[in-house]
Amino acid sequence: MHQLTLAEIARGLADKKFSSEELTKTLLARIAQLDPQLNSFITLTEDLAIEQAKAADARRANGESGALLGAPIAHKDLFCTLGVRTSCASKMLDNFKAPYDATVVAKLAEAGAVSLGKTNMDEFAMGSANESSYYGAVKNPWNIEHVPGGSSGGSAAAVAARLLPAATGTDTGGSIRQPAALTNLTGLKPTYGRVSRWGMIAYASSLDQGGPLARTAEDCAILLQGMAGFDPKDSTSIDEPVPDFSADLNTSLKGLRIGVPAEFFSEGLDPRIAELVHNSIKELEKLGAVIKTISLPNMQHAIPAYYVIAPAEASSNLSRFDGVRFGHRCEDPKDLTDLYKRSRAEGFGPEVQRRILVGAYALSAGYYDAYYLQAQKIRRLIKNDFVAAFNEVDVILGPTTPNPAWKIGAKNSDPVSAYLEDVYTITANLAGLPGLSMPAGFVDGLP
Ligand code: GLN
Repeated sequence: MHQLTLAEIARGLADKKFSSEELTKTLLARIAQLDPQLNSFITLTEDLAIEQAKAADARRANGESGALLGAPIAHKDLFCTLGVRTSCASKMLDNFKAPYDATVVAKLAEAGAVSLGKTNMDEFAMGSANESSYYGAVKNPWNIEHVPGGSSGGSAAAVAARLLPAATGTDTGGSIRQPAALTNLTGLKPTYGRVSRWGMIAYASSLDQGGPLARTAEDCAILLQGMAGFDPKDSTSIDEPVPDFSADLNTSLKGLRIGVPAEFFSEGLDPRIAELVHNSIKELEKLGAVIKTISLPNMQHAIPAYYVIAPAEASSNLSRFDGVRFGHRCEDPKDLTDLYKRSRAEGFGPEVQRRILVGAYALSAGYYDAYYLQAQKIRRLIKNDFVAAFNEVDVILGPTTPNPAWKIGAKNSDPVSAYLEDVYTITANLAGLPGLSMPAGFVDGLP
C-alpha cells in the first residue's frame, strides 16, 4: 500500500479497496520501522492522524468525495499546527506549540487530508542539506551517507522512502525543488502569492512560498489544488481564481517553446548531469517541443544578490525570537540585554546566526546602499531577463542542481560551497516565478 501515489490512493478509497484508517495505520507502522534511520520526522501525530482518517472515512461513507479526502500527508515543521509543536527545527522553538493552524494546514485538513506529523528541515529553512536541524541531519533514502537536500529535506526523504505519498514544503531559494532533485521526486514552487504564507514561519518573506513534494506531477497538481488560493490574511496572496491544475496534465507538448539558457551549462555543472538534461531535452523534442537556446545574462549575479536579500529579510523576521515575545529563554538573566543575548546565542544554531549577522550588516546605515539596494537592483535585472525570455519561449528548462547529493558533512567547513548549489533555483524566487523539478535520471546511483 505504501507504493501508491495520491492519485491511486484517491481511486482506491473511492473504490473501497481500503479505508483511510487502514492506509494511515500501515504508513505509521512503516514510519516506526524505517524513520529511525532517516530522521525525516520531528514530530509524529499518530493519534490525530487516526482521528482524521476515521473522520475522512466517515465523510466518504456519507457520499463525499475529493482527491485529498483520506490522503495521508505531512507538513514541513514551519507550518503552524494548532496544539502541535512547530519547531522550525530550532532549539529556539523546541517547546512552541502553535495556537492556530497555518492557512495551508487548515485548507488541507478541510479537504480531508490526514496529517501524519511534522517533517524535519534545515533550521529556519536555511540550508541546502538538512544538516542544520536541531534534531539532527536527515538521510537520503537512496544512500543514507548522503544528504537529502534542503531545506525541505525531511518531506523529501519521507516521500522518497515511501513513508507517505506527498508532503508540503517551502521554497525560498530552492528548498522544494533541490531536495526533490536529490531524492528523485517531483517538487513544485508555485508563483509567489499563489499559496498563502499565513502561519508559515517566515525566513525571507519576499521569496518564501509553500508548495508540494510528491512522486509525480499529477500528485503535485492534486496537493497544490488543496493548498492554493487567495487568503485575505496574507497581504501578498494573489486574488485570482485557482485553475484546475490537473486539467492540462495530458496536453500534448507539440509546439511548446522550451528555452534552454546557455548560462546553465557552464563550468560548475557536473557533466554527467548535463548529459541527463540533454537526454531529457531530446525526449521533449521527440514529443513535439521546440527547443531554443536563450540567455539569462544576469544569472551570474543571482547568488550574491540572494545571499544579501534573504539574510536581510531573515535578520528582520527573526528579531521576534528574543526570549520575551517568542522562543527559548536563557536561565537566570542578569538584565534585559543579557536575556536577549544569551537567549538568542543559545536558541539559534551557527548557520542561522551567520545569516542574521550578514543580514543585519547589509541593512545597517552606511552599508545599506552598497549591499541591500544593489541586490534589489540586480533582482529587477534578473526579473527583466525573464520577461525578455518569455517573449520568445513558453517555459525554461535546465538542471535543478549542479551536483548530485553530497556526503553528509562534506560541505560543513565551507558554507559558500553549499550556497553555490542554489545557482539554478534562486532566480525563480527572485523573480517570483513558479518552478518545478522533475526526475531526469541517476548519477552513481544517486538521483
Ligand atoms: N539553500 C537556500 C538557503 O539556504 C534556500 C533555502 C530555502 O529555499 N528555504 O537560503
